[in-house]
Formats: sequence, structure tokens, C-alpha cells
Amino acid sequence: MKEFLTNNFEQTQSLASRIASFVYPGLVITLNGDLGAGKTTFTQGFSRALGVKSRVKSPTFNIMNTYMARDFPIYHFDAYRLEMTGAANQGFEDFIGTDGVTLIEWPQYMNDLLPNNRLDITFTRGEDDNERTISIAGVGSVIEIEEKL
Ligand code: ADP
Ligand code: MG
Repeated sequence: MKEFLTNNFEQTQSLASRIASFVYPGLVITLNGDLGAGKTTFTQGFSRALGVKSRVKSPTFNIMNTYMARDFPIYHFDAYRLEMTGAANQGFEDFIGTDGVTLIEWPQYMNDLLPNNRLDITFTRGEDDNERTISIAGVGSVIEIEEKL
């Protein structure tokens, strides 16, 4: 596990763009943390670094948004609304860990669909309003990415 401290949203986005330089199709990234912790902000910096031109916003109401990056699609999930219904039988398996990079906000609500090899990122608010601690853990083979950071 590696830990980073950011003091504004731009720093979170530049960390995201650094991580983006190490990713590959099939990779799954979980984004953990409370409402307003910075999960979507991270996804914006991440997607922009990979060449996404359109505006990235939270997919809360449609669960998943797809963005075309330069070399592969980005699947951006917000699983919050699955708390009640669960994530089964909705076809999400057709996207997660396939031809694109997948980022999942509120991954605890689609636990059964998470692969064993993945990058887990956790956002925690600090004392100051704009402070965030961002911890990054590569699970399984994805330890490779953690080691490069
Ligand atoms: P989430 O998707 O986790 O609910 P958002 O990314 O939508 O959170 O919102 C995070 C909010 O916090 C944004 O308004 C962002 O500008 C603000 N913010 C302030 N400081 C930071 C920081 N260091 N990192 C990320 N976001 C920050
Ligand atoms: Mg969000």
C-alpha cells in the first residue's frame, strides 16, 4: 500500500494522470471513500490523461458511463444505487475487466463482480477541507502498478 496526500483537486487529478500512464485494457480500479471524497474528480483527471475529450461526470443515475480514450474504452461505474438491488443479472460482467479499463465508485455494492487482480484506491478527507489522503494498493498481479508509483 502506498499513500499520497493531496491539498487540492488538481493534485488529485495529477496523481490520477500519473496512475493512468501505467494502466492497460482489462484493468479494474476500485475507488473507495465517502460522498465528496474525490472519486469522480480522480476519474476526470484519469480519463483526460488517456485522451477522453468529453466531460466526465458521475454516472449515479445510469450506473455506468463509457468514454472513448485514445486506445481503449473507459467504463466508469457508480454502484451506489445497487445497494438495494444488488449487481447480479444486469450484464455488468460484459464490461468489467474486458477490453477497457474499468473504474468503480462504491465497489462494495458490486463485490461479487470484482476480480481478484485489481487496483484498490481509497480516498479519506483530512483536517483541512481540501486535504485528501489517497491510499493505493495493488491486489494480486496488479501489485506491479503499485510498485511503480
Ligand atoms: P465523490 O465522487 O467521491 O463523491 P467528487 O469527486 O464528486 O467526490 O467530489 C469531490 C469534491 O471535493 C469536488 O468538489 C472537489 O473539487 C473537492 N475537492 C477538494 N479538495 C480535493 C482534493 N484534494 N481531491 C479531490 N477533490 C477535492
Ligand atoms: Mg462520484
